[in-house]
Amino acid sequence: MRIVRSADRFRRDVRAARARGRRVGFVPTMGFLHSGHLSLVERARRECDLVTASIFVNPLQFGPGEDLAAYPRAPRRDHLLLRRGGADLCFEPRPESFYPEGFATRVRVHGLEEPLCGRHRPGHFVGVATVVTKLLAAGEPDRLYLGGKDYQQAILLARMVRDLNLPVRLVICPTVREPDGLAMSSRNIYLTREERRWAPNLYRALRAVSACVRHGEIRTARAAEEVVRGMLSGGPGRLQYVELLSAADLAPVHPLRGRLVLALACFVGKARLIDNVVFTVTGGRV
Ligand code: AMP
Repeated sequence: MRIVRSADRFRRDVRAARARGRRVGFVPTMGFLHSGHLSLVERARRECDLVTASIFVNPLQFGPGEDLAAYPRAPRRDHLLLRRGGADLCFEPRPESFYPEGFATRVRVHGLEEPLCGRHRPGHFVGVATVVTKLLAAGEPDRLYLGGKDYQQAILLARMVRDLNLPVRLVICPTVREPDGLAMSSRNIYLTREERRWAPNLYRALRAVSACVRHGEIRTARAAEEVVRGMLSGGPGRLQYVELLSAADLAPVHPLRGRLVLALACFVGKARLIDNVVFTVTGGRV
């Protein structure tokens, strides 16, 4: 696996492969890799001829007081895992060259950035959309592999790709979980033993409440959100939000019907964890 630091070098290598008719897959990450990231690399390996990845802790998507400086890093281990997972090329720009002095451009996807994490992390999705635009411009992949764990991010980027006619196909992959259900995340490293024991309750609550909605036992988004709140109270977690929305466009839904997403963010000790379940309510319940 080659490691490149400059966007021009990254593009040259990818173009050389494409000139030989190779299909190029790309997996953007912030490093400190786990099996969730590697599932994207493995999927790209199965579907593409050249597998590219990036490791870049993007300062633009962190707000003041968030964990940019403390974000966990393990570059050597990441390289090993990427190599083992089947990546061919890893783009690892330095922040000062990726965002040179005077960098003034931002990409903003209106509407989809407003609910869920957007409400609590102002500027976050502008940072995400801007860095992914730059990464796509540098690496010119045929396919972009994203995780469904960051659901809002994935559908916001899908909209951006569509709106800007970017020549890339998005592949959204399922959330990879620990055996007890906790969604894998680089931020799980922040959890104490007691917090780690409690954290699977997030997914348990999402599953239990989505099942009630599917079976018509819960009939409004407000009620679903209240039940999740109740289930998660009394532990070490402090729920930041839980919302039940349309999975297609993150709009409020009533009556609860069609493809829905139940998503939450919760502070557990020092970690801010997010998770979601996507499910379908069929029939004409009101
Ligand atoms: P991050 O390094 O957190 O920016 O994540 C990089 C990519 O990996 C994003 O597309 C995430 O959605 C994806 N990802 C992170 N955690 C998981 C997981 N547990 N399962 C599947 N994909 C994930």
